[in-house]
Amino acid sequence: PTQTLPEMMAASVSRYGKRPALEFFGRVTEYRELGRLIDRAAEGLRRLGVRAGDRVALVLPNCPQHVVAFYAALRLGAIVIEHNPLYTPRELRHQFEDHGARFAIVWDKIADVVAEFPSDLALEHVISVDITTAMPRAKRLALRLPVRKAREARAQLTAAPRSKRARPWETLLGHGALSRKHAGPRLDDIALLQYTSGTTGSPKGAVLTHANLRANAMQGRAWVPGLRDGKETFYGVLPLFHAYGLTLCLTFAMSIGARLVLFPKYDLELVASAIRKSPPTFLPAVPPIYDQLARAAARGSIDLSTVRFAISGAMSLPVATVDRWEAATGGLLVEGYGMTESSPVALGNPIGPSRRPGTVGVPFPSTEIRVVDPAAPQNDVPLGETGELLLRGPQVFQGYWNRPADTAETLLDGGWLRTGDIASVSPDGFVTIVDRLKEIIITGGFNVSPSEVEDVLVAHPDIEAAAVVALPKPRGGEDVAAAIVVRDGVDLPADAVRDFCRTRLAAYKVPRRVIIVDDLPRSLIGKVLRREVRERLMS
Ligand code: ATP
Ligand code: MG
Repeated sequence: PTQTLPEMMAASVSRYGKRPALEFFGRVTEYRELGRLIDRAAEGLRRLGVRAGDRVALVLPNCPQHVVAFYAALRLGAIVIEHNPLYTPRELRHQFEDHGARFAIVWDKIADVVAEFPSDLALEHVISVDITTAMPRAKRLALRLPVRKAREARAQLTAAPRSKRARPWETLLGHGALSRKHAGPRLDDIALLQYTSGTTGSPKGAVLTHANLRANAMQGRAWVPGLRDGKETFYGVLPLFHAYGLTLCLTFAMSIGARLVLFPKYDLELVASAIRKSPPTFLPAVPPIYDQLARAAARGSIDLSTVRFAISGAMSLPVATVDRWEAATGGLLVEGYGMTESSPVALGNPIGPSRRPGTVGVPFPSTEIRVVDPAAPQNDVPLGETGELLLRGPQVFQGYWNRPADTAETLLDGGWLRTGDIASVSPDGFVTIVDRLKEIIITGGFNVSPSEVEDVLVAHPDIEAAAVVALPKPRGGEDVAAAIVVRDGVDLPADAVRDFCRTRLAAYKVPRRVIIVDDLPRSLIGKVLRREVRERLMS
């Protein structure tokens, strides 16, 4: 059956009725209840004036209201726009200028900021969400705060700012359910405007249809063997406002009747305490999270032996992290690859013993790939050689919102998506991502992949993290430079770092400059922002 996202949700509501759909700080919402909340929120939004094709901005951490708002807006045929609630007012305002939504559903901590956006924006209605109302009472205050801070916390939580222009979420729910006859969206309608991470420039809004998102949920299902409908427990530690969390946690979990445990942010102790009630079976995350969880499991402070599916993406997964995870949990950690523009997943390792660490696996079902000359993308490179990766499949987006030039550059004739990533394919079809095309360093006519140098650096026992960037030389050209975070209390001279690299890398790849830093700038999902590293080193 070809279904839109709200139709998929409705099917799960009738099929899984009394099974748990969401869990938040221990409080469970069953599928039937979730379906009712969605219908009521949809009616509330309709009365507010939301019509098919309108944009509804969500600026929310992971919480049950986020899920309800997402499906309610889609049920009306509206377009959801996800935002990072920790963005600064300036960043958010920039996105609101870009998409021009009239409606916003916003975390109460920042509702004031959004409600006070200048009147030249299209924004008319702001709904404010207090996420603590979805928690069991006792947990509202617990939130890992030391006892002596509880009073302050209570003051903060109960005196959540309620702007004059922002009305509370609960007011949406008091009007009964949307009529079943109300027309929903069609498969080719736009469901989502999803901003890219902004790793290489300012975030771009990727236009994704119901068909795109549905395809990726279905492809995910074909990828993961042995899923038990109605019985899996997904851990939503990734933000739903990012394509990876939205598809791999939310739409995928809901389509198979899973229990989705939502975390407003990733936190080791929140995860540890959730495990006691609902042990995870399916845990999509990113390498820094797996690394921290694996260390905790190795110490015996957390039990991750129930995780049958650990799926890493969004950035390259160091083999050391795979080893650490697998030794500590007894399960497999497999890597996939994707981008916002492909809903997002496009490639994945087989989930089983034939997975190949260091690669991102093979194309998803109904996904085709090519590796081409980035300077002349109509020309494929010979098999095994590196070039820019192109993707084609039902999950590939429709273009960037309001950016025809970027769209034309990225979506080629025939529906091929330029990934901007350099890759190679092995004779048996496994894809290795070398680096982003924009971040490859050219020094003395040679190409250096920053990731390759970073992998060598972090293999040094005293180096915790590394970012490799190009720095301009005084007389033109670029040098390879490494910003490194050194383990606490260790004195590591730059020469020792260079010596270490020299035995493992060709001379032109060895960083000319090694700079010790306290930390590396990262995106909210944990990607090192090399662009910012470079700016910091140059200033
Ligand atoms: P922007 O496009 O705004 O600069 P972004 O590309 O980081 O930001 P996303 O869509 O979140 O935004 O990320 C997609 C990119 O993430 C891919 O193009 C690729 O560079 C990187 N990526 C995803 N998965 C992997 C992986 N397994 N290994 C290496 N890189 C990956
Ligand atoms: Mg990108």
